[in-house]
This record gives sequence, C-alpha cells and structure tokens, in this order.
Amino acid sequence: MEDARRRVPRTDAVLGDPALAPALARLGRPRVKAAVTAAQAACREGRLAPDEVVAAVLADLPAAPVSMRRVLNATGVVVHTNLGRAPLSAAAVEALALAAGATDVELDLETGLRGRRGAAALAALAAAVPDAGGVHVVNNGAAALALVTCALAAGREVVVSRGELVEIGDGFRIPELMESLGARLREVGTTNRVRREDYERAVGDRTAFVLKVHPSNFRVEGFTSAVPVEGLQGLGVPVVADIGSGLLAPHPRLPDEPDAATTLRAGADLVTASGDKLLGGPQAGLLLGEAGLVQRLRRHPFARALRVDKLTLAALEATLTGPVPPVAAALATRPEELLERARRLAAAIGAPAEAVVSQGHVGGGGAPGVPLPSAAVALPHRLAAPLRHGSPAIVGHVHDGRLLLDLLALPPDDDHTVAHGVRRLLAHDAEGGR
Ligand SMILES: *Cc1c(COP(=O)(O)O)cnc(C)c1O
Repeated sequence: MEDARRRVPRTDAVLGDPALAPALARLGRPRVKAAVTAAQAACREGRLAPDEVVAAVLADLPAAPVSMRRVLNATGVVVHTNLGRAPLSAAAVEALALAAGATDVELDLETGLRGRRGAAALAALAAAVPDAGGVHVVNNGAAALALVTCALAAGREVVVSRGELVEIGDGFRIPELMESLGARLREVGTTNRVRREDYERAVGDRTAFVLKVHPSNFRVEGFTSAVPVEGLQGLGVPVVADIGSGLLAPHPRLPDEPDAATTLRAGADLVTASGDKLLGGPQAGLLLGEAGLVQRLRRHPFARALRVDKLTLAALEATLTGPVPPVAAALATRPEELLERARRLAAAIGAPAEAVVSQGHVGGGGAPGVPLPSAAVALPHRLAAPLRHGSPAIVGHVHDGRLLLDLLALPPDDDHTVAHGVRRLLAHDAEGGR
C-alpha cells in the first residue's frame, strides 16, 4: 500500500503527458485536472496501475467537444429537418471558425467608428438579388414573418387564402404566429380555390397587407385555383410573399419552386424566406423587398430581439459568395453519376451490398412531391440500427424490406467512410455467426 501511494504519478507529470494536450486545449485545465485527481485517487486505492492513469483520464473525458453526433445523411432527403437542414459549405465552416473570435462585425476598421452590423453579408445578399431595393436578415423564416407582422400588421388585418394557412412542422402554424402578435387574419377563398375577386372584397381600411404563403410541404391537386403574386397587384396594399425555401433565382430542376428574384419582379413588395433550406446556408430569415418597407422593419424595436449573431452573418456571406454549397451540389448531380458512385461503393463493400436506382426528395425545404432520381446501395435492413448507432452515425432509409443508403444528399468525400463503416459491421457479423 505504502509503495503504491509513492508510485501514484504526480499531477504535473500527468498533465504534461502529450496525449492529454488536445483535451487540455479543448476542455481547459480545471476540467482535465479534475479527471487527473480522480484517476490518482483510483491509483492510490490500488484500483488502477500507475501506468494506466493517463488512459483512465482520457476515458473519463468527453471524446468530442459536443454531444451532437456527426451524421452521414444517406436518407436521400437533401434538406432534412431532423438532421439540421442544410449542411454548410466548407467556406461557410471556415467563416464560422474565423468569426468565433473578435471580429469587425460592427466596426468600420477604416475609420475606427461603429459600422453597420453584418454589412458584408447584407451586401452579398443584395448583390445576389438585384431586384430587392433593401435586404435584412433575422433569426429564421418564422422570425422574418414575425417582424413583418409586428411592424406592419399589429392591430390590423392580413388577407390570406384559406389554401395557404400552412403548418410547417413541429406544430408551427403561420396563422397562429401572426395572430399571437396581434394581427387579425382575414381568410379568403376555400381550401382548394381562391380568385382575385375574393381578395378584392376582403381588402379594406384595416388591411395591412396581402400575404402569399408557399405551400412548401404539401400539394393540393385536382380542382384548384390560386392567385399568383402578379394577380394581386393594384389592390392598394402591399403584397408580402413567404416563399419558404430561400431560392434566390429560378432552379432548373425545381420549376414550381418560387424564388426571390422572380417573386419580386412579379410585384411582391416583400419576400420572406429561410436561409437553411434550398439556399444551403445557416439558419436565418431573409427579408427582401421595397427599400422603405425593409427600412421600417430594420428600425422596428422588435428587430433587436430577432437579430442574428456574427456566426450566422459570417456563414451566410460565405454561402452567398463562396463555391456552390452542398445542397446546390446535390441538386446538380446527375442520376447516372450517382448510380456510378453507388456501383463503386457497393463493390467496395462487397456482398450483400448492391447498387440500385432510388428516389430522393428535397425534403422539408421545399418542392413537395417532386421526386429526384437518385441511386443507393441496398443492404439487409437489420444493419439500419447498428449503422445509426455508429460514429459517425450513418442514417439511411428502409424501403421494400431493405436498407437503402442513398447517395443524393451524401457528399462524395464521405463514400469511403460509409464503405468502412458497413464493412466493419459485416465483418463483425461474420465473426459472430461463426
Ligand atoms: C420553412 C418555412 C417557414 C419557416 O421558416 P423557419 O426558417 O423554419 O423558421 C415559413 N414559411 C414557409 C413557407 C416555409 O417553408
């Protein structure tokens, strides 16, 4: 006992071990020191050999800086809400790291005076949508609508089609948000049909604006009619269009998905959208439109409560000015390329993996019901859970009794990680079976 106590490694010696350097940098000295003290106690009591102390400290410390796990998105859903919507581009990730320290987000380094917050990100957004007289960025799409409602429609009426009273997900309903901020919704038309005359009859002294909401997660088919933004001109009140997805310009593969430029040109006074759907950037709410209206929103007291942080501004600027973000890259990939990748991946995994054609989707971000031709690697469905439990987690989807690892939303650089993860599981299976 006496002997073991003398052999307990000293705190400084353990803390100086190179193996603990990354943990010290990441977690700080007090946290690591607490783990060292615990391991020394175990050593003193004979539960741990002196040369096991460093390993015990490492085992006691969290392996990653956060408990959020990295996920390889093999679901075939490009903008997956449960996986954090749009993955950021490498440029945006670098921008995040750079902005994490002190930055000139609100300082003009030229003059040394206070500068306009996030001026570069706003300029990039304005440059991307020249039809917008003014632009502003808030926390998310819901915040953009909330600011418009607060600034323009508190105690007044918003005219909206019954077919556009949308619930986005997780119980978030656009009409309830607007009513909670003191606007009264004046519903026009029916679930499936609305005409310009319906809007004309409803607009009056109390109308703050007419709202168009893009049904971004459902489709009404059959006997339907809606009034496009063009058809809502000349009613004497502003037209606000919530386009949802954040497409700034038309996308050739998504012809029915509204975009900011076209919507503004059609006569919308304000457009609201999310930053982390088809735009492929960070969570943000974009407001674009008539300069005077945007200025009113920006100056409204509530705007401060919806303000975005420097990290969002940095990532948004990099998304807008940098190389094509992953969401756009996924949408630009041809199905033949995906099938070729699936064949290579299936070959790298070996039996029973098989390349198959599949069908992907944009997801919660827009283009409901539009199938995106894709390709996948098919595997026995019993692998779904163990792959999901791995690190990184690999999340596919089960179709016709098989697990499909769809390549549409998976960056090609991650193929070898998937191959490795699946091979290891299969090898483990084979050993267990013997
Ligand atoms: C996604 C969406 C919203 C909500 O945007 P968040 O960024 O999730 O707050 C609002 N309107 C439409 C049409 C949407 O598609």
